[in-house]
Amino acid sequence: MIGLTDIEKRFGDNLVLKGVTVTIEEGSVTALVGPSGGGKSTLLRCINLLEIPTSGTVRIGDDALEFHPGGKVPGRAIQRLRLQTGMVFQNFQLFPHRTAIENVMEGLVTVLKWPTARARERALALLEKVGMAHKADAWPATLSGGQQQRVAIARALAPSPKVLLCDEPTSALDPELAQEVVDVLGQLASEGTTMVMATHDLRLASKIAQEVVFLDAGSVVEKGPAAVLFSNPERRRTKQFIATLK
Ligand code: ADP
Ligand code: MG
Repeated sequence: MIGLTDIEKRFGDNLVLKGVTVTIEEGSVTALVGPSGGGKSTLLRCINLLEIPTSGTVRIGDDALEFHPGGKVPGRAIQRLRLQTGMVFQNFQLFPHRTAIENVMEGLVTVLKWPTARARERALALLEKVGMAHKADAWPATLSGGQQQRVAIARALAPSPKVLLCDEPTSALDPELAQEVVDVLGQLASEGTTMVMATHDLRLASKIAQEVVFLDAGSVVEKGPAAVLFSNPERRRTKQFIATLK
């Protein structure tokens, strides 16, 4: 249902993604793992088109966009595809001058033009889902990192995206606070939320991911079921990398 086909991304002379092909099943969780600088964040950003691929095809459901070097894809088409994704960042990136609930409402009101009352109702339901309804009117700066990330997850889910993209969602958090976020993501996964998540957190990945993609130096080295890839990887580079996480 989500397909990346032969995605290349070039920054100047630097070919950062070297033809990445990945298929993500609806309702599944895919973990992107691999060494720092391997292209995980860039790949996530190519799915929601925060980065425009140099070439390749991005498909989300029935919507597909094909990219060519020097080609021009209309902003409207990019916006339409992007709206089918939600993104959670390592450092939460909440709007500091908006309360928790206003953060969750923001996209619904400004992009989707929902009436405020309806947006507020949905935002509150989402805050409840992530265990943050009691902090609806709190400012981000007064929340712990784990709480901020839970609000950020609610915000990402607000427009009912087809896929939730998470870029190292627990790596800025102490273990205890990371656990809150792991629990919320685990709950979403069990409810059938489609997710793609870059992570170094083996606890997170092995708890909720069915599929693992090992990305190194811009190429997929190995991919497969989490149970197999974590315990019995085929490739030497994968083995070495998994050993560093344990
Ligand atoms: P990872 O998330 O796996 O650590 P990244 O996707 O962040 O890897 O980075 C992959 C490579 O792309 C790195 O060499 C990084 O320096 C480069 N890169 C990422 N974003 C940019 C950018 N906006 N401009 C130039 N180079 C970038
Ligand atoms: Mg990264």
